[in-house]
Amino acid sequence: MSFCLHGQAVSGGIAIGRAHLVSHAMLEVAHYQLRERDVASELVRFDKAVATTGAELDALRAEASVPGAPAELSAFVDVHAMILVDPALTDGVRELIRERRCNAEWAMVQQMQLVVDQFDEFEDAYLRERQQDIVQVVERVLRVLQGKRRKLARRKAVMVDELLIVVANDLSPADTIQFKSLKIGGFVTDLGGATSHTAIVARSLAIPAVVGMLHARPLIQDEDLLIVDGTRGVLIVDPDSGVLEEYKLRKTELEIERSKLKRLVTGRSRTLDGEDVELHANIELPQDAETAKEVGADGVGLFRTEFLFMNRDELPDEDEQFEAYRSVVKIMGDKPVTIRTLDIGADKEARALRNRAGSRSAPNPALGLRAIRFCLAEPQLFLVQLRAILRASHHGRIRLLIPMLAHVTEIEQTLALIELAKMQLRESRQKFNAVEVGGMIEIPAAALSLGPFLRRLDFLSIGTNDLIQYTLAIDRTDGAVAHLYDPLHPAVLRLIAQTIQSAQRVGMPVAVCGEMAGDPKLTRLLVGMGLREFSMHPAQGSWKSSSRS
Ligand code: PEP
Ligand code: MG
Repeated sequence: MSFCLHGQAVSGGIAIGRAHLVSHAMLEVAHYQLRERDVASELVRFDKAVATTGAELDALRAEASVPGAPAELSAFVDVHAMILVDPALTDGVRELIRERRCNAEWAMVQQMQLVVDQFDEFEDAYLRERQQDIVQVVERVLRVLQGKRRKLARRKAVMVDELLIVVANDLSPADTIQFKSLKIGGFVTDLGGATSHTAIVARSLAIPAVVGMLHARPLIQDEDLLIVDGTRGVLIVDPDSGVLEEYKLRKTELEIERSKLKRLVTGRSRTLDGEDVELHANIELPQDAETAKEVGADGVGLFRTEFLFMNRDELPDEDEQFEAYRSVVKIMGDKPVTIRTLDIGADKEARALRNRAGSRSAPNPALGLRAIRFCLAEPQLFLVQLRAILRASHHGRIRLLIPMLAHVTEIEQTLALIELAKMQLRESRQKFNAVEVGGMIEIPAAALSLGPFLRRLDFLSIGTNDLIQYTLAIDRTDGAVAHLYDPLHPAVLRLIAQTIQSAQRVGMPVAVCGEMAGDPKLTRLLVGMGLREFSMHPAQGSWKSSSRS
């Protein structure tokens, strides 16, 4: 049956593909009591489900051995196969079915909770992470028990010919960044706001995405045919052939439109009255610099380095970070690369940092120990990053950008740590060049008291995503208040305009690197306020064309 759902459009374009469900909604299973005489058959039902799941994993293992399949896939299948037959899980389930006379699904979820809780106690981050694998294995068995098995033969066809559309209750920025290496056509989530980092990563991947759908996850089944209209915020499930044809046509038109924009990449960005405008790129991973270069970016205006720290159990050491920063600088040649220091916290989590200062679950993470606050609380970790950035400056033009500054003391402590990092490098005879140090203006207090920023720093970059969140007291990740997240609120506009004008008065370079910079509807307004440096994702359709107004 065809139906349509609406949500918040966060990343434009059209994706047509098959649903791939990821969420823990599966774990909300029914609980019922068995008659004594049904216990034996329930045990058989459970054992059969385990055997079927084992066969599914074997089939996956065979798929993973085809040339071109990611190497991690087969290791991941092996771990799942081991968990599936681990007595800690399966014997416990059998015991619950026998003793409590409960259905296998419910017993499975109870036992899973018990095992997962024990993993919480482990010191070792790698072992703690295996909790997720246990949950995924349990989800697999539940799917079999509930008769929602994936049709493997068909699934293979799907993997070859069609794109996958991820359907989730929610996705973290760390989940989403992994899509960079997978063939994901688009995604929809029930939760989320327009400038959450999940949405930002979707835009950087140029994959259509709609968030805040509320009911997509429970209503959609694996492999349903889906159309995601990321521009209008619409999801069509099982479209009829007429609608499908119409959307295929629109998708082709959009692709032609995009390829036309590519012809502008070598042109200068200039307003009709001859004012030059610089267009820089926002990147999350070093390889994104290639795209920045391809689209003719004037530099990297924001390298969100925290993404280097995600989806891993160990922190990247100084040499690994240095290599990452150097590779970006090398790709960009003589163009400037603005490297923002670690902005972890709030919706951006890194499991390798779980036992650090900011790791406890903060009552209000967006107002907690994030970004520079976290780095100043963890000076040794911060120094590693500062040294790596400084070393990379020997290979090109680097600007160092500090997120979430609000207090004079934070500026002073940061500058002192940069000096200390330089001293350490000199002592170990490591080379580095002069770097400019800039501050993000993304807390209203900073925009309202710019004096120390103008006196002590070399440049400013306005982070409108957080500036809007903190000025309007709207959680940028919360779909329930997304309608109140308003870049055009007079208070927001006043803060942006004042910051641009104050910086220009003293001849200090100022950029906007929040999502407002990539929204073509706002380009004229920002240019009118005096802004001449925009930083946005290379994939944003407004690239180049947005400045030609
Ligand atoms: C911002 O807040 O506008 C910004 C660019 O930083 P982030 O989105 O990473 O918080
Ligand atoms: Mg920010």
